[in-house]
Amino acid sequence: MNAPVPGRVAIVGGGWAGLACAVELSAAGVSVCLFEAARQLGGRARRVEIDGQALDNGQHILIGAYHETLRVMRLAGADPGRLLLRLPLELTFPRGGFSIRLPRLPAPLHLAAGLLAASGCSLGEKLAAARFCHALRSGGYLLANDVSVAEWLDRHRQRGNLRRFLWDPLCLAALNTAPENASAQIFAGVLREVLSGARENSDLLLPRADLSRVFPDAAARFIAAHGGEIRLSRRVARIERPLAIDGEHFRRAVIAAAPRHAAKLLQKHPETHEIAALLDTYRFEPIGTVYLAYPRALRLPSPMFGMHGPLGQWAFDRGRPGGARGLVGCVLSARGGWEERDNDALAAALHEELQETLGRALPGPLWRRVIRERRATFSCRPGLPRPASATALPGLWLAGDYACAGYPATLEGAVRSGCQAAREILDQEADRIGSNHCCGKPGYDRNGRVPQPCISSPG
Ligand SMILES: Cc1cc2nc3c(=O)[nH]c(=O)nc-3n(C[C@H](O)[C@H](O)[C@H](O)COP(=O)(O)OP(=O)(O)OC[C@H]3O[C@@H](n4cnc5c(N)ncnc54)[C@H](O)[C@@H]3O)c2cc1C
Repeated sequence: MNAPVPGRVAIVGGGWAGLACAVELSAAGVSVCLFEAARQLGGRARRVEIDGQALDNGQHILIGAYHETLRVMRLAGADPGRLLLRLPLELTFPRGGFSIRLPRLPAPLHLAAGLLAASGCSLGEKLAAARFCHALRSGGYLLANDVSVAEWLDRHRQRGNLRRFLWDPLCLAALNTAPENASAQIFAGVLREVLSGARENSDLLLPRADLSRVFPDAAARFIAAHGGEIRLSRRVARIERPLAIDGEHFRRAVIAAAPRHAAKLLQKHPETHEIAALLDTYRFEPIGTVYLAYPRALRLPSPMFGMHGPLGQWAFDRGRPGGARGLVGCVLSARGGWEERDNDALAAALHEELQETLGRALPGPLWRRVIRERRATFSCRPGLPRPASATALPGLWLAGDYACAGYPATLEGAVRSGCQAAREILDQEADRIGSNHCCGKPGYDRNGRVPQPCISSPG
């Protein structure tokens, strides 16, 4: 085994959690070595090449409340203003005649005005929704007991079109779990993030570039520029004590792999056996993305709108934010009948549904691609226990969307968990050194904020 390189941190997994952790540590002057099993970075949010077409592995939406993601993007040199199209929250279901748009008014006025002006639902539904939002706010968005979203909405008399076109689709989009199975407490937390605080928190941010360009590519450049190392196509098989990754010593390590892969690395040690056993109980939900390429002249009424179903939930005009013109991405969230259909049948059905949703005939697609992510997210069930970032194995932390308590499986959850692990490592390092300095130069402080980058040499 090699000798440990002072201060060097190993990060296992190059998804958004691992990359955020690596960027945060690099910015604080800590040298990192990131291991990624795949040939590219990005994990579940990346660019993929299929039959010569560069596509995202799935349509991703960010929201204005993704403060950590936006901050870490900026830190890595990825400009959110250029890479993301910011729109006021607007949910439109053309076929159902439903539409709600939150106007540019201070929160919570924007919600009240948006609800009042919503079309396709009754006044009674709007008043019930206003009461529900008020009750949520006055209760601090906390529930006495976690139940399913469906049961919670029933209790608060959320029915009719507002439930069908607002609450249920929002739950599915945010938690990727059907309302009958989804955690009401986590959904309430999402509503807090979206509806409280600044009006901008509720904005939708649609990628203008492919997902790898939105963050992973910039993160990789930033890590390299700060003396870090990235090893692609390098699947870590074991973590040993004293802390070593496949025989190579590090003083600290962060496992930033998805729950199933993290569990495999954790189960061998008595200190982390319990977390591994917990992660083994997690269930997962799929997401399907059907790309339909129409002639370039095709332009849909809005960049994103709700589909008529029964299969598709959302359609995205990829050309509108700045992607390939004529390309439409249809999203199929969570478990459902779509999983049994083969790709041809699925693409044909989505083309039909798109026509029905828009109420007009479309030209036949020039080509189509179907991407199925079978374990897209953990199933966000009521009362699901979530592990903390620190583990009982000295020097070992966890990061990943599942490790961000209170958040569903999202980019923001992943990034927050990565930053949390980095902050805890920096705090521990600051305690060890007993000062605000690393390697003799001004470096990180106890909060992980960086006065000046301080770069330690890679091993
Ligand atoms: C199709 C789809 C659509 C989505 N839509 C949205 C959305 O609209 N908005 C949103 O916020 N979120 C969305 N999500 C969720 C979001 O993508 C994830 O929550 C997030 O990307 C998880 O990041 P992570 O870093 O925690 O995990 P991952 O992305 O899974 O990263 C883990 C990495 O670890 C690597 N790894 C695993 N084991 C090892 C090992 N032993 N050695 C080395 N490397 C290893 C893996 O290859 C992977 O790259 C979507 C997800 C999918 C799949």
